[in-house]
Amino acid sequence: MAPVGRGTGGHLGLPPVRPDLAALTGYHSEQVDVEVRLNTNESPLPPPPGWYEALLSGIARIEFNRYPDREATELRRGLADSHGVPPEQVFCANGSNEVLQSLLLAYGGPGRAVALFEPTYTLHRHIARITGTEVVAGRRSDAFELDLGEVRRVVGAGDPVITFLCSPNNPTGRADPLADIEAVVAMAPGLVVVDEAYGQFAPSSALEILRGRGPGAERTAAVRTFSKTWSMAGTRLGYLVADPEVVRACEMVTLPYHLDAAKQLAGRLALRFVDEMEDRVAMVREERGRMAATLAALPVETWPSDANFILFRPLRKEARDVWTDLLGASVLVRDCSKWPGLTGCLRVTVGLPSENDRFLAALSESLQ
Ligand code: PMP
Repeated sequence: MAPVGRGTGGHLGLPPVRPDLAALTGYHSEQVDVEVRLNTNESPLPPPPGWYEALLSGIARIEFNRYPDREATELRRGLADSHGVPPEQVFCANGSNEVLQSLLLAYGGPGRAVALFEPTYTLHRHIARITGTEVVAGRRSDAFELDLGEVRRVVGAGDPVITFLCSPNNPTGRADPLADIEAVVAMAPGLVVVDEAYGQFAPSSALEILRGRGPGAERTAAVRTFSKTWSMAGTRLGYLVADPEVVRACEMVTLPYHLDAAKQLAGRLALRFVDEMEDRVAMVREERGRMAATLAALPVETWPSDANFILFRPLRKEARDVWTDLLGASVLVRDCSKWPGLTGCLRVTVGLPSENDRFLAALSESLQ
């Protein structure tokens, strides 16, 4: 993982990169050639054959000499219908990371702060820093739950334009109860952005606040992605559901025609296959239960998960050594052991039953 800034300035007469980027390390999950890839929380299953067929015939009809629909009208309408909100409340981008970047470009920047509660998704902090936005960080509790007293302290002191939550929280796994999210909306001064990349696994959603138009609905935003439960990480498509004013703010910082025609089509077509998506979610939940039960019998600490991954901490062996043993067995998991608040932790994505078996066998072997 090479530092972004160092070694990128002053050579060959090139200008140095922005000094505030110089200390920033890039965000990279290892891309290693392995047989069992359980490190980036993707779906282990592809989209259904019907989606591929519809996509192929639809692509043959795209006028590729023309720019795509800049407003992504049909895709936004489809998503809006699926969530029971008007299309003016939906903004789409190239993955939910780009949604987060758009929010930070629109509302962040020098002299402004965002709040977040660690351990949480590292890109919230990373993109904030890229956009020159100050980060005020609080901590989740020892059980990785939201601590509302801590939230009050942090948002009171930091006056954030955005307070980021992540539910279910990556990499710890639990969804925040809706009552806690409502409490954060009530106490945070600006926009509360709930990253729901794993939202289909969770028992509740910030979308309920938005749909109910209750107190604070206009300051609540839910961010979702096609990368996980929709099995479309290769498509790079994510979206925001928020007040129309937030959607317009994101559009202001977006390049024209940022969503290509094939991507818009892929997203629209996916919405025809909701049942298949829900079946995959059910399969993952079942496998997650099986993995959790097996992990419970091993010398590891684990945390309950409402998502498609499980955080665990080997108790009698260094996390990095376990990670290396797993890699030796061609099983790749995420090493979170150096992340703030996660000393000694690894994260495994729930894969196919056969992949999970490989992981569990390799882990037992490593911990023998
Ligand atoms: N949010 C969370 C919490 C995630 O875990 C991820 C993927 N790792 C993303 C956002 C980004 O997803 P994408 O850009 O693929 O939509």
